[in-house]
Amino acid sequence: MSVELARYTTLGAGGPAREFASPQNVRELEGLLGRAALEGMGVVTIGLGSNVLVADDGIDALVLRLGGDLASVEIDGERVRAGGGAANAVVLHRARAAGLGGFEFACAIPGTIGGGVWMNGGAYGGDFSQVLERALVATAEGSGWLTPAELGLTYRHSNLQHGRVVVQAELRLRPRPPEEIKAEVRELNAKRKAAQPTNRRTFGSVFKNPEHELSAGRMLEACGLKGFRSGGAQISPKHANFIENADGARSADAIALMAEARRRAHEQYGVELRHEVELLGDLELPPLGA
Ligand SMILES: Cc1cc2nc3c(=O)[nH]c(=O)nc-3n(C[C@H](O)[C@H](O)[C@H](O)COP(=O)(O)OP(=O)(O)OC[C@H]3O[C@@H](n4cnc5c(N)ncnc54)[C@H](O)[C@@H]3O)c2cc1C
Repeated sequence: MSVELARYTTLGAGGPAREFASPQNVRELEGLLGRAALEGMGVVTIGLGSNVLVADDGIDALVLRLGGDLASVEIDGERVRAGGGAANAVVLHRARAAGLGGFEFACAIPGTIGGGVWMNGGAYGGDFSQVLERALVATAEGSGWLTPAELGLTYRHSNLQHGRVVVQAELRLRPRPPEEIKAEVRELNAKRKAAQPTNRRTFGSVFKNPEHELSAGRMLEACGLKGFRSGGAQISPKHANFIENADGARSADAIALMAEARRRAHEQYGVELRHEVELLGDLELPPLGA
């Protein structure tokens, strides 16, 4: 089945997948991975599409979106077992109801557990590496449990590659009264709303923060890029490290903005910004100085 991926991305842009499937359990997932390997077809798993930029002409691969058992959440004492396709919001809700804290940082990360492990998602001083005990990762060759160290989790990074699917994660949380969790989440969400364009279609932070006294957002703001537009996309007037779909944006528009942002940051600060968003399909940023 060919599916337009724009509907599965928070930016709302991106072309079709060569094939698309939504496995509901491990058996179905293993079947799909095995078939793709036999046919020599690449595999890309997406979660809620909140950190991806998909090429306008699509992805020449089997695109998987985990559902059913692979998105379930189970509480076992102080441990949470969550499917790779489970939304962070659902995991946080279940943890709070069970009186388990430690996952509050994820309240403003609109993705799944698989996407969080993939890039060691984090906010407000917390990240996945701090709560993850181990993750079950499936490939066409078989499945195995990996620890955060084996996954190579560092700042917004893991060593996972396409074709390796986060099937489940075991999170170790700690007892905390639900009211306290609720209050912290309310506070973090208010902070987020004040600083970022939470009511716009974006894919989160465009660039990782560089090793510099200025964050990527402050640097791009100082480069005069707030509100800068290309086609249907614009650099957020609220926070310069976000790109918004202002009006029928294409991924190519976002790439043009990213290229301009990198060019200016390099010219003014000598910094090579590295993108945080995952580029899927035939998408690439021009080299600096080109
Ligand atoms: C408004 C907004 C605010 C955000 N704020 C933050 C923030 O504060 N901190 C932060 O870290 N991020 C933030 N993000 C980015 C994004 O939400 C996170 O990166 C999130 O973890 C991505 O999860 P996802 O399920 O949407 O993954 P996707 O965007 O669908 O995919 C991201 C990558 O993960 C891979 N992937 C997804 N699921 C799996 C799986 N099961 N197995 C293997 N690989 C998989 C994909 O192939 C892709 O390479 C924000 C995004 C938005 C739109």
